[in-house]
Amino acid sequence: MHFTFLFLLFLMALLGLTPLIFFIVLFASVIAHEFSHSIVAKYRGLEVSRIILTPIGGIAFTEDITTDAKTELMVSFAGPGFNFLVVAVVWMWGVFSGNTQLLISSLTAGEIPESIFGMIFYSNFVLGVFNFFMPALPLDGGRFWRSLLALKIGYLRATRVLINVSMMVAFLMFLAGVLLPSFWLMLIAVFIYFFASIEYQTILLQNCLSSSTVKDVMQEHFLEFDEDVLFERAVNELHEKRMYFAVIKKGSEFFVFDVNNFEVLDDTVELWQAKIIDFSVPVEPLSPDESAMDVFKKMAKQGLNVVPVQSRGKVLGIVTRESLSLELKFKRILNAENE
Ligand SMILES: [Zn+2]
Repeated sequence: MHFTFLFLLFLMALLGLTPLIFFIVLFASVIAHEFSHSIVAKYRGLEVSRIILTPIGGIAFTEDITTDAKTELMVSFAGPGFNFLVVAVVWMWGVFSGNTQLLISSLTAGEIPESIFGMIFYSNFVLGVFNFFMPALPLDGGRFWRSLLALKIGYLRATRVLINVSMMVAFLMFLAGVLLPSFWLMLIAVFIYFFASIEYQTILLQNCLSSSTVKDVMQEHFLEFDEDVLFERAVNELHEKRMYFAVIKKGSEFFVFDVNNFEVLDDTVELWQAKIIDFSVPVEPLSPDESAMDVFKKMAKQGLNVVPVQSRGKVLGIVTRESLSLELKFKRILNAENE
């Protein structure tokens, strides 16, 4: 949860009881919205890692960004879909109890609704409409229209179209924010602008790396030491060969020494007689057929610069961050005509 929420809660409490209750209703609606995304994402086999709530509505972060259009279509609709469902149910209550006027005025009065039903109606209506009908990434509407388009023209192209639309939406929103003036609109415009560009980078990465395997990006030029090789000898050899990394095998375990991660301390001198393996970290090796995208995610998540590749206990090569970004670069050049 975002701390701004607690801060806003405190602020609302200062303003009085009605704003406080309204804020709690809005907050609950945002959480229910996010949970709907998460449930459908789980159902479609995506792992939902964390939910971050922001004042303009939550964003459910999934571990995997899916490029499966059907999955995204369902996941992106789930949130606003839930809000629309609540709106429909409350509207039905309004019809049966003769309170439709109260619900309509909760939308048009321009102030915080007095009744709890008005609050629920207003919160879910605004969240649903704003998220669904705004065709801007990373909002649900942007995702929904992108995945619809992707069914026709492919994911990368659809993303590019939606990025352009998002930038236009952000620009108009910012303009409206200045003219009205509305601080919130300006803030959301900046948010859309910023996240839409990140979205494109992510999809580009996914698109380029998911068709490559570890075998494609692996570097066969690397150093391997036995477990009892002394630190001094290993560092000298790395220095001579101008290499940053070494792989050390100990039984069935793999270790990696990374010059970049080595800190020179005052008492390092005394450690010259130690073994290289004492300064190495254990890593789980890759197999040659793994997808390069999975490896990228794994390395980013664990903060690794290098991972050995093995087959039947033998080290075949290493994958480094550089080898991945090189692959990305080449793929972009080679795919340029399709983009
Ligand atoms: Zn949503």
